[in-house]
Amino acid sequence: MNATTQPIVSMQKLNKHFGSLHVLKDIDLAITPGEVVVVIGASGSGKSTLIRCINGLEEFQQGTLEVDSKTLQPHGKSGRALQHIRTEVGMVFQQFNLFPHLSVRDNITLAPLKVRGVNRQEAKQTANRLLERVGIEDQADKYPSQLSGGQQQRVALARALAMEPRLMLFDEPTSALDPEMIGEVLDAMRELAKDGMTMVIVTHEMGFAREVADRVIYIHQGEITEQGPPEQLFDAPQHERTQGFLSRVL
Ligand code: ADP
Ligand code: MG
Repeated sequence: MNATTQPIVSMQKLNKHFGSLHVLKDIDLAITPGEVVVVIGASGSGKSTLIRCINGLEEFQQGTLEVDSKTLQPHGKSGRALQHIRTEVGMVFQQFNLFPHLSVRDNITLAPLKVRGVNRQEAKQTANRLLERVGIEDQADKYPSQLSGGQQQRVALARALAMEPRLMLFDEPTSALDPEMIGEVLDAMRELAKDGMTMVIVTHEMGFAREVADRVIYIHQGEITEQGPPEQLFDAPQHERTQGFLSRVL
């Protein structure tokens, strides 16, 4: 990182309401390429909404938001910028969201074929390589329902990576998994972080957060209460609310 590195995400005074509910309050956030940011906070604090704003899945009402040098406008009026961002930003959800009627390989090749315009042979090779990378190269011809949750989530990860995103967003990627499958998904994410991917991760896996995060952000009722390197945030939280939250989850 150097002084001239442009942030890949730059959010200033972002405010988001659902009707009368003020969900995000004056959020300022800049994310540097290569950074791994973990977002923690109680249920309902606005973590999902925050990362969904970054790829335009949620509109916001006030503030500014730039992602990969494209400006997302308030009230969802973003047009081409939104298309660009959806192409360059990958997302992995709690509930996998695979296409049930497509094989694992076809799940992965669909967007590169349709959106990136790569040829079928190349898309297939990329899918095979990514499946190998997440450790399920032998599952390519199966359908999602034939896989375990941990395998499905690794397919979801491979599918996102097939678009060669510049930024990856994760919304509680292991929360729907049986405990014995959490490790295999976290391992794949750990590898990705090691390879230098820029990542924003909402998770309750505090051990993992401590290990991979460059920065941890604690959100309380739609505000960033505190943020810092994991050692600081976990071992010496400054804010009473952060201390309270951590004492409940650690
Ligand atoms: P978290 O991910 O931290 O649990 P969310 O971002 O999902 O929190 O939600 C923040 C707040 O916004 C909660 O009060 C939630 O009920 C509300 N909320 C989330 N999505 C919607 C929606 N589509 N419509 C109305 N309220 C919503
Ligand atoms: Mg959430």
